[in-house]
Amino acid sequence: MIVDSHQHLGGCFVFDHHVSAEELIGYMDGAGVDASMVMPFPGTDEEAGVHDQIAALAQKHPGRIFGMISINPHCGRDAYMREAERCVKMGFRAVKIHPLGHACPVTAKDADKVFEAAEIFNLPVLVHTGLGVPMTLPSVIVPRARRHPELKIVLSHAGAYVYSGEAELVAKECPNVYLETSWVGAPHRVRSFIKSIGAGRVMFGSDLPDNMENELTKYRSIKTLSKEEMDMCLGETARELFRL
Ligand SMILES: [Zn+2]
Repeated sequence: MIVDSHQHLGGCFVFDHHVSAEELIGYMDGAGVDASMVMPFPGTDEEAGVHDQIAALAQKHPGRIFGMISINPHCGRDAYMREAERCVKMGFRAVKIHPLGHACPVTAKDADKVFEAAEIFNLPVLVHTGLGVPMTLPSVIVPRARRHPELKIVLSHAGAYVYSGEAELVAKECPNVYLETSWVGAPHRVRSFIKSIGAGRVMFGSDLPDNMENELTKYRSIKTLSKEEMDMCLGETARELFRL
């Protein structure tokens, strides 16, 4: 089973993206991706509407689409919790904070509610890392990861390009931190993650539909991975983490 652990639906005025349902399903079919974890982009002013679209798409494609909550944390606590609870009731499996796209570092007071929601609803938290330094440095998450050792935290993009080494260090120091590898520059960095922390905390993700095949190739070009490690990284790690 192949699980894309990082996908979006709808529009984004921060990064100028738009992903339609047809595009998402079409690329999944083309790349042989069985299931995708899907969230709104950080640059949307209709989070609830996109959450509804994700839920509708999940109903239309049973077992293939799973929702992730993404709400700009610069809103009132009650409004945040209300929308998060509504998503949980629709079957959503994780909550996301995008320090750059939401303009909210994980150290900010407003970010507290993201981690509080994760604890209340027992969900993993995805934190965007990489593009947007310094507030998106992987190490910024360490105090929260240590304060909430029971919380599972995914570093989306695992620091991307130049900060992947730092993401690896953070994951080595914090056993509750997972690495999702979209935009990590090269296969040898992914190989190093797996060697350092094991395939059980490393997972494939692509972020955009036309990046799916590219990200899968990054794993498949590593000829030293065992079949078990490959299966874990391409699907089993995410399946277990998001309880699919
Ligand atoms: Zn993304």
